[in-house]
Amino acid sequence: MNNGYFGAYGGRFVPETLMEALLDLERAFHAAWASPKFRDELHAHLSRFAGRPTPLYRARRLEAAHGLRRLYLKREDLCHTGAHKINNSVGQALLARAMRKRRIVCETGAGQHGVATASVCAMMGLECVVYMGRRDVERQRPNVERMRHFGARVIPVASGSQTLKDAINEALRDWVTNVKDTHYLLGSVVGPHPYPLMVRRFHSVIGEEARRQILREEGRLPDAVVACVGGGSNAIGIFSAFLNDRSVRLIGVEAEGAASVSCGSPGVLHGCRSYVLQDHDGQIRETNSIAPGLDYPGVGPEHSSLRDSGRVRYVSIGDRQALAAFRELSRMEGILPALESSHALAYAPKLKRLRGVRDILVNLSGRGDKDLGIVSGAKHA
Ligand SMILES: *Cc1c(COP(=O)(O)O)cnc(C)c1O
Repeated sequence: MNNGYFGAYGGRFVPETLMEALLDLERAFHAAWASPKFRDELHAHLSRFAGRPTPLYRARRLEAAHGLRRLYLKREDLCHTGAHKINNSVGQALLARAMRKRRIVCETGAGQHGVATASVCAMMGLECVVYMGRRDVERQRPNVERMRHFGARVIPVASGSQTLKDAINEALRDWVTNVKDTHYLLGSVVGPHPYPLMVRRFHSVIGEEARRQILREEGRLPDAVVACVGGGSNAIGIFSAFLNDRSVRLIGVEAEGAASVSCGSPGVLHGCRSYVLQDHDGQIRETNSIAPGLDYPGVGPEHSSLRDSGRVRYVSIGDRQALAAFRELSRMEGILPALESSHALAYAPKLKRLRGVRDILVNLSGRGDKDLGIVSGAKHA
């Protein structure tokens, strides 16, 4: 690590016009990350604007229902705007300001990244343009409304599957055209270097807090840490603090209809080499998940490397199991989880089959208010 690679994955497969912007961004990020002034400012925004640290919550009724010894939830759903996304949006917006770029473009799937970015842009007085697949615009209405209230321009993308992949294509196209005054605020640990590295750093606060909190609470580390994987940012955020703790099993949960790590093969998507869902000719396959934030045919390059090394195990969960977990957490703990996070929740009870796994930590990446339309429209009882 790193020069842009995690083992055989990562890199910078982009047109010449973007190369310079990516090199500028890389320099600016390294300078900022090394600067105590930048880190202080980031910390202040995370605590006063985003609401960090988020609590660690013990789900006692769920433990009892599943015969688990301890089940902890890292409450990223309590972050301002309702998901972990804000950690990265705050970080990159500060960076854009340091680079004197006043126009921000971003993509969004579930709408959480768009809402977080639009909110931060409003707070900092930056212009904000959000690209969102038309299908996602329709199924995540409340988030579209929120972005507009924050003053962002939301542009529906009608190409391809009309979801996250297509929104990223459009945002990249905009950036290429307007690179002089525009920063592309990418929302996960995907894309060309330095994004996977930079977004990971901005989310590492999740794992640092959770590790400290559980040690304070229990005096020991959890046996397993579970997180859902779309692009992989909330998962890397929490895993990063436990990678060197060999006793802690790390489990990434993908959506069955978008299981890039479990079912894909190495290829290039959105400027980096990673596991990708593709056919024999390298055409990107369509994905389908009830959770818009997981509906992506690629994954961050670090996850590909962690899969190959075996340090993280990747599994998948279907729509019905995720919905069941959504209902269960709502009824038993009074917390509405995002459908994305519900995938991680659905897998947690299965871990008790593994020898020595007694204490489980789940990253509750976001809240489920945005998903009520999907949940009430779903047929499963
Ligand atoms: C965006 C999102 C995800 C998926 O993105 P990752 O980069 O894989 O974390 C998961 N959960 C929620 C609540 C999200 O908003």
